[in-house]
Amino acid sequence: MTGRFRRDYRRSAAIFTPKSLAVVALLLAFVVTTPPAAADAVDCARVKCVALTFDDGPGPYTDRLLQILRDHAARATFFLIGDRVAADPAAARRIAEAGMEIGNHTWQHLDMTMLPPQDIAAEFRRATDALVAATGRRSVLARTGFGAVDDAVLAEAGRQGLAVVNWDVNTLDYRNDPAATRHLLSTQVRPNSVVLLHDTLAPTVDLMAELVPALTAEGYHLVTVSQMLGPRPPGSLYGSRDRA
Ligand SMILES: [Zn+2]
Repeated sequence: MTGRFRRDYRRSAAIFTPKSLAVVALLLAFVVTTPPAAADAVDCARVKCVALTFDDGPGPYTDRLLQILRDHAARATFFLIGDRVAADPAAARRIAEAGMEIGNHTWQHLDMTMLPPQDIAAEFRRATDALVAATGRRSVLARTGFGAVDDAVLAEAGRQGLAVVNWDVNTLDYRNDPAATRHLLSTQVRPNSVVLLHDTLAPTVDLMAELVPALTAEGYHLVTVSQMLGPRPPGSLYGSRDRA
């Protein structure tokens, strides 16, 4: 009994050599860190796409939102505030690991058009440093606080390799009227809309549990900004600051 057990044990142990275990670990790492291939393959020139963007996190409801997005194989873009990332780098890393795109939402969310040039540079750079430290990735997109930009802000974004992306649809979710936000989303989203939302607001995340499947049922592919718009030139500006 003992002998057979030992033989069987030895035979099965032979399968789990250090080399084969390393291969399994590598495969697992690949599966865990690779975003769904189907989402990458979406061609937004041929199918209906929408890019939901979530600003001001990471926050207490971000992980709940990630679960909703994951449940529906949806992607989105998160514009993260640098000092919040520095305070909770693990939360930013979870967003990246969920296959989401991350953008620079500046270090402190100030009105950049009111700042002297050296402060504009520092607001972008400190946020970039926090994002790279947390996620190992360098963002190519930025959105300033309140979407406020002028020529000096765009020029500095360009120097730091950042394309600025505002929005096509403002859901006004920060007014804390979920019914109005639901109405705006259902009436104003068009193919290839960039939509402004905030994952720092619990009612917005609640609404996503309903609207992510609803948009999917309407035939929308929920993708990241870069998937939908393609590469953007540094220093360029997409979208407006206003309500669509
Ligand atoms: Zn913001």
